[in-house]
Amino acid sequence: MNMELWDLAVKAHGHECAGLAFGFRMGEEVKKIFKPTEKVHVIMPGYNCVADGISIVTGISISNQTMKVDKSIDKYIFYVAGEDEGWAFTPHKLQMAEGADPVTGILAFARDMLFDIEPYDL
Ligand SMILES: [Zn+2]
Repeated sequence: MNMELWDLAVKAHGHECAGLAFGFRMGEEVKKIFKPTEKVHVIMPGYNCVADGISIVTGISISNQTMKVDKSIDKYIFYVAGEDEGWAFTPHKLQMAEGADPVTGILAFARDMLFDIEPYDL
């Protein structure tokens, strides 16, 4: 993982937190799935710290109208406008050891421990 970018994310976000770390990890996976030339959008279940993690890694944001909230969903759906299939990220409930730092865990866990990634019909 890109620690330099993570440090920048913490600076931009204003604090280090689990939501930011989770968004950051999703952003990294999104960059592996889509081509750099594709303009990726997301529909997400709520607007919170996770959004900044996604934005800083991918450039998806409210201000460039590629980020939308739909409170009726429980997934993060990434897609390119005009395509009929995107990718849904479903977060897992994380099992943390007592006293463990969630941020360190989220940054270190294997992808499959954090979320499922499946094709999604738009
Ligand atoms: Zn936060």
